[in-house]
Amino acid sequence: MVLSLARRIEQVQSRIASAADRAGRSYEDVTLIAVSKTVARDVVDEAYGHGLRQFGENRVQETIAKYATPLPDDAGLHMIGQLQSNKSGAAVKLFDVIQSVDRRSLVHALEKHAASADRTVNVLIEVSISGEVQKAGCPLCQVDDLTKLVLASPQLNLLGFMAMAPYTATAEEARPVFTGLRDLRNRLQQDFDRSLPWLSMGMTNDFEVAIEEGATHVRVGRAIFSE
Ligand SMILES: *Cc1c(COP(=O)(O)O)cnc(C)c1O
Repeated sequence: MVLSLARRIEQVQSRIASAADRAGRSYEDVTLIAVSKTVARDVVDEAYGHGLRQFGENRVQETIAKYATPLPDDAGLHMIGQLQSNKSGAAVKLFDVIQSVDRRSLVHALEKHAASADRTVNVLIEVSISGEVQKAGCPLCQVDDLTKLVLASPQLNLLGFMAMAPYTATAEEARPVFTGLRDLRNRLQQDFDRSLPWLSMGMTNDFEVAIEEGATHVRVGRAIFSE
């Protein structure tokens, strides 16, 4: 059976509400980022019409073309894919949040472009918690160093951390990745004496478990946009 986009959005929202409830949290504590990387702009606009406001994209060139007409002011665009340093100038102008900061050279490039555009850029550090999703994220052993560098970059505003769980047969198997990211965030907040509130974790396969473990932002693509 093919459900309408409106119906799929409602289902995801009600699953978010139940997961938050199970964890003694409230629905408002969790922001749904609709990962629209696989759909055309008219579908993004339709989702906006159904009340979604935060969208995730993973390719800079595609995003430039897709949002040539910008979204309304109350919408936000999140960069969730690996970012090449030579695209960081464009990314600084396009995105409200860059969630995939994973290495020192990218921090330097973003800082430089943000300064010349006279902008402050909201960023998350993407962490490779399990070490299994090889290409994505800063290795655990380098996270302290990278956090220190971002916090010392005047044009960058570090909001928190992002992680992806490896694909597992059950969502439950992803739980250690989410508790790992939460514990890491808690320690870094203490060590650097800074509030780092965002935990962007959980996708179609595992967002309910991520919410139970403290996700503040879930990035959901297929459950919203796939038939
Ligand atoms: C594609 C993607 C998502 C969404 O994944 P779904 O399984 O479609 O929900 C979330 N985060 C990142 C980093 C992605 O690349």
